[in-house]
Amino acid sequence: MATLPDNLPPLRDIIKFHDLSAKKKLGQNFLLDLNLTRRIASLSGSLEGQTVLEIGPGPGGLTRALLLEGADKVIAVEKDPRCLPILAEIAAAYPGRLEVIEGDALELDVSNFSGLKIIANLPYCVATPLLVKWLKISPWPPFYNAMSLMFQKEVAQRIVAPPGSKTYGRLSVLSQFRTVPDIALILPPEAFMPPPKVESAVVTFRPIEKPAEDCNIGTLEKITTAAFGQRRKMLRASLKQVSADPIALLEAAGIPPTERAEQISVAGFVRLAQLMDQ
Ligand code: SAM
Repeated sequence: MATLPDNLPPLRDIIKFHDLSAKKKLGQNFLLDLNLTRRIASLSGSLEGQTVLEIGPGPGGLTRALLLEGADKVIAVEKDPRCLPILAEIAAAYPGRLEVIEGDALELDVSNFSGLKIIANLPYCVATPLLVKWLKISPWPPFYNAMSLMFQKEVAQRIVAPPGSKTYGRLSVLSQFRTVPDIALILPPEAFMPPPKVESAVVTFRPIEKPAEDCNIGTLEKITTAAFGQRRKMLRASLKQVSADPIALLEAAGIPPTERAEQISVAGFVRLAQLMDQ
């Protein structure tokens, strides 16, 4: 078998050798081009001396890139036991630098982690719940200092959407309240095997250590869920779900009760959350 710069065989050969057929249920769309995974690996800065948390390493295309790009250590969480022998071969090629945890990333205990980067080609089925979980994490600043995460392009656009746009919603407010998100790379379906139906995008997130105006993110989530759950309605109607007197709440925040959710800035939602908790 031919080998790549890391002296391991090409991904295509490994997948064939281990008969790793992609499972849709697990969101398995693999990246096989090591040049591309190396580019993704370095989107949130140099990995020299860094610890990286990777979710869903699969056959290891991105994992190998993270190690080649100089990560001191990669902690990789994979749900599919079929990938473990392949990951063990990568671990053997990089002694002491790859730790594989078999399990569900949604249940991962992150309480002992700090100062790491999260870099992942996420399974689409868990991408949004995982992101929301990490945005809501306590204490803040969080256990990560940067994230580069792959989403369906449409989800990536919602994350970075400004007020006034059709895609602005709960995910935009939560993401932009706690981080600076940016679409760093857009990938066509053909970049993956098997190709998904839609385009994908890598979003980088830089956590904001201390937001200028702070609030309880749980309250912010409740308000934005209610407001955008009925995005065509005026806020005086949609916020009835979370407030006994939405008109008074909106007026106290300096927001006309006839406005709709998509017109309100992140700061406006933060003010509403602060007032709700008073
Ligand atoms: N990182 C590989 C790559 O870029 O080629 C695979 C990415 S693939 C989109 C998503 C991976 O996440 C799969 O390996 C899948 O088995 C794994 N996965 C799916 N659900 C998971 C979960 N809840 N926790 C951890 N891994 C999961």
